[in-house]
Amino acid sequence: MDAWLWISLAALACAAPLLYPRWTLRRALARPLPPEALAILERNVGPYRSMEPALREQLRQLVKRFLHRKKFVGCEGLEIDDEMRYTIAGQACLLLLNRPSKVYRALHTILVYPGAFLVPRQEVGPGGVVTAGKHTLLGESWDDGRVVLSWDDALRGARDWREGQNVVLHEFAHQLDSESGHGNGAPYLGSHENYRNWSAVLSRDFANLRHDAYYGRQDGVIDHYGATSPAEFFAVATETFFGKPWQMAERHAALYDELRKYYRVDPREWQAAPPAEAVEAPVFMAPSGQRSFAVASW
Ligand SMILES: [Zn+2]
Repeated sequence: MDAWLWISLAALACAAPLLYPRWTLRRALARPLPPEALAILERNVGPYRSMEPALREQLRQLVKRFLHRKKFVGCEGLEIDDEMRYTIAGQACLLLLNRPSKVYRALHTILVYPGAFLVPRQEVGPGGVVTAGKHTLLGESWDDGRVVLSWDDALRGARDWREGQNVVLHEFAHQLDSESGHGNGAPYLGSHENYRNWSAVLSRDFANLRHDAYYGRQDGVIDHYGATSPAEFFAVATETFFGKPWQMAERHAALYDELRKYYRVDPREWQAAPPAEAVEAPVFMAPSGQRSFAVASW
């Protein structure tokens, strides 16, 4: 009898590290979000209020999973509060709706600065001369499981949702991109056919944006920062898809369709169509100095 008791206790001790996290997650998922959290989602996650109830519930469950698994760290003395946690989690989880995927499986920590932050960078200049400098960033996404965000800018993107510039969506699109093994503008898509279609559409629109950026042509839909590389193009296109869905669908129909298939939502259902004049006619601006873009391929 004693032996069985000891064997049972030993088995329990071995299983506990596996069972306990599942038990705590189940408990967290079963608890409804407090009213303050719902108010934050309504205030700071643009489409939340316009979603149908089932999708809202799905987003709330994803947010609970996200907050249960991921750690927030305040930088430069910033104290992380619920407004930050629910705003960032709510926006990040918009990218995961209607999919059976894990909640950013490689991600473990979100570092939040009060505003734009400085990072050291080395640059190689003419003649191979390496210079050290500092760059000001609004966000960063790392393959080792970290996302870094400026809170000021995360909040600005939340409040000005229809501007289509959102650092949280941008950095979490990079996370999805890197889950496929390489941050190259092609997240995990499943079939060869999906990759073929994605590559054909995004390569063409990327090349067009690089051309427009070089010649200073601005159509007011996709920001020229997306011309930097295929990975940046996917991240910027994601911001545009959620923030300016009508404009993107009109000017970049095939790209919109690829993103709609990938994200499994149609953000036009959450926004009234803008007045006709809001879809600006393309304008040409004088190129700001000589710019060149490295050759990149999907
Ligand atoms: Zn980026």
